[in-house]
Amino acid sequence: MDPDARKLLKTDWSHLLSILEERTDEMLILAPSLNEKGLVDWARFRAGERPVLERGLPLNSVKRFCFPQPEELFLFSCRPAEPGAFRLQEPARLEKNTVLFGVRPCDARSIELNRLPYEHDPYFNSRLESLMVIGIPCRETCSTCFCTWTGGGPQGTDGMDAAVWEYDEGVVVQLLSEKGEKFFSSLSATLLSREEFESLFASSFGNLSEDVQNPADLMKQKPLLSCYDAPFWQRVADSCINCGVCTFLCPTCYCFDIQDERLGGQGRRIRYWDSCMFPLFTQHASGHNPRGRKVQRVRNRFMHKLKYFPDRFGPLSCVGCGRCIRECPVNIDIREVLRDLLQVPGEESDS
Ligand code: SF4
Ligand code: SF4
Repeated sequence: MDPDARKLLKTDWSHLLSILEERTDEMLILAPSLNEKGLVDWARFRAGERPVLERGLPLNSVKRFCFPQPEELFLFSCRPAEPGAFRLQEPARLEKNTVLFGVRPCDARSIELNRLPYEHDPYFNSRLESLMVIGIPCRETCSTCFCTWTGGGPQGTDGMDAAVWEYDEGVVVQLLSEKGEKFFSSLSATLLSREEFESLFASSFGNLSEDVQNPADLMKQKPLLSCYDAPFWQRVADSCINCGVCTFLCPTCYCFDIQDERLGGQGRRIRYWDSCMFPLFTQHASGHNPRGRKVQRVRNRFMHKLKYFPDRFGPLSCVGCGRCIRECPVNIDIREVLRDLLQVPGEESDS
């Protein structure tokens, strides 16, 4: 629960959804919905529909809305007769603001973690400016979730502009930023005091959090080289088929490649998601590949999330959403890798 809550508004689902419906012309509103395969994924919210919030995390995370796949960086034309020929042109950007409704705490927090490496990235930052996140804290956890291990929690509000707390008789909308306040300015609702909210919270949400010592702090104490040379990497790599599913679905994997696409004298430069699990990801123009062996790539993925990122930025580069566990075709589980790493002997940091 966020002690800095600015406003708490008690209302009901139908009124809340009517506010979304009113905004569908001026904003692009996305919410969890069932796709043609019956899986929960992000889709445009339409009047009269109810977002699918009771079937767990959407298949895809929210990273595609800050870091689209692919993203146009600029356009160019080499046709001398065309206006603007031989000049780089900015691609058209989305005119509408985007609202994500029904974002779970792990996904909302992933946006905050991705801000760290992308601090100076103008494309990422301009998308964040036009993005609003309306979160839904979790009332229960699933077998693959472990957000409390990674510094988050099922009732965390990091990265949200507003949080919608669902309880048996309605919802409480918690306004957490100016964007959130503006979006819900026409919501007619009963104002709740902090005490009233806390009592409602205790009866409806209880405490889902576990007391776990922050693994990021423990990992920072581990000597880099003993983690690097740990014998269990080969066992993990023997199972992995380097399909890259884990990295594409992961909300905090952010590696990309850049290519120019040209056709008939016109073209565009794009960046698109890439994966450290693919052999070509690190191949140099000379043909040398510093991570040519599978065990090197598998180790890099986990070491980046659990050791290099916390050493550099502080938190783990993982929000415990469990997508990589849920979707890995050979059942590799990052929680087991983290446990193995925490058992590596030695507590002196060599960073
Ligand atoms: S999803 Fe599983 S098998 Fe595929 S690259 Fe990731 S860890 Fe390896
Ligand atoms: S590493 Fe796995 S559990 Fe962690 S954020 Fe990425 S997909 Fe979720």
